[in-house]
Amino acid sequence: MPVINRIAEFQTEIAEWRRDLHAHPEVLFDVHRTAGVVTEKLGEFGCDEIITGLAGTGVVGIINGRSNVSGRTIGLRADMDALPMTEKTGAPYSSKTDGKMHACGHDGHTAMLLGAAKYLAETRNFDGRVALIFQPAEEGGGGGKVMLEDGLLDKVAIDEVYGMHNWPGMPLGHFGIRTGGIMAATDRFYIDIEGLGGHAARPQQTIDPIIVAAQLVTALQTIVSRNLDPLESAVLSVTMIEAGEADNVISRTAKVTGTVRTLDGGVQDFIEARLNEFVPSFAASFGAKASIRYARGYPVTVNAEAQTRFAAEVARDVVGADRVDDDVAPSMGGEDFSFMLNERPGAYIFLGNGDSSELHTDTYDFNDEAIPVGVSYWARLVEKALPIA
Ligand SMILES: [Zn+2]
Ligand SMILES: [Zn+2]
Repeated sequence: MPVINRIAEFQTEIAEWRRDLHAHPEVLFDVHRTAGVVTEKLGEFGCDEIITGLAGTGVVGIINGRSNVSGRTIGLRADMDALPMTEKTGAPYSSKTDGKMHACGHDGHTAMLLGAAKYLAETRNFDGRVALIFQPAEEGGGGGKVMLEDGLLDKVAIDEVYGMHNWPGMPLGHFGIRTGGIMAATDRFYIDIEGLGGHAARPQQTIDPIIVAAQLVTALQTIVSRNLDPLESAVLSVTMIEAGEADNVISRTAKVTGTVRTLDGGVQDFIEARLNEFVPSFAASFGAKASIRYARGYPVTVNAEAQTRFAAEVARDVVGADRVDDDVAPSMGGEDFSFMLNERPGAYIFLGNGDSSELHTDTYDFNDEAIPVGVSYWARLVEKALPIA
């Protein structure tokens, strides 16, 4: 079964919603206009229940199927927020707000899930219920986590949950998915080095924290290259160094900040432990002191085995077997949907965005041609997971 005809019929309408959202980007939890558009449309489509206010601006629409023999509820999730950057696409529907831009395609995700809502409310060819979850603050605020903390799963008894992200570089009409870690855990570390400041002309009377920081950057690379099993993967990047105030003064302190990306909880634990033991002793060998604070961010996005197999089948139904890669390479980027996947089994899939600019660049744009493919995937997933008894 290819793209669903009824969905292809209102592709243009969904693209118009997408372009309207694109022109009015909002960031973090402050997605009031977007959430308002979503709530209004869900009402128009005839959703049976609409829950607002989770994580402030999160919205959940519930659609009942024709029957409810199974008593099951499938959750489909989209993110609504944009990024704090200025758009350079030159598109006629470009952002109307300097410094805010839909550079990750969440405008497309929101519009596609609305398209699925319209189709599912109209046809109701399923048993049980579907919960359409629209979350704020995927880009850094952990909006999905906050929706869970605000009782999403108490208010709606969701059995399985699915997510989707457009993927630049993957051909249009293709899907990619894998069992296990598909997106990375995104942790940060903050190192404070304390030496002994003094006159830049008398280094022998000081403990120079900049020398410690400079060598520490190189030494930290050995955690991934020498300590970690080469068949595992991790990224450890130092992204900020701050020290010093004058060209003739040796600073007393230096700060080294960075990020750690991992695809496996065990690797994540290992790197955190290794950093905690390595950094203070490395600094001590120079006579300096160093403390490290390791902050865990979004966890690894882990696709459950059965649901991943099922999602790949759905994708094959929509685009054909040769256009679904069920062992796609994981990404070292992070994804807040991971919190929902930690609570319920489910799967996160990549949707081809064609040969577009990369995510988070000022020339990126969501590809409207992907809309019927993504919406058909959502619709088919619900009909297949919840067949009418
Ligand atoms: Zn993003
Ligand atoms: Zn994104």
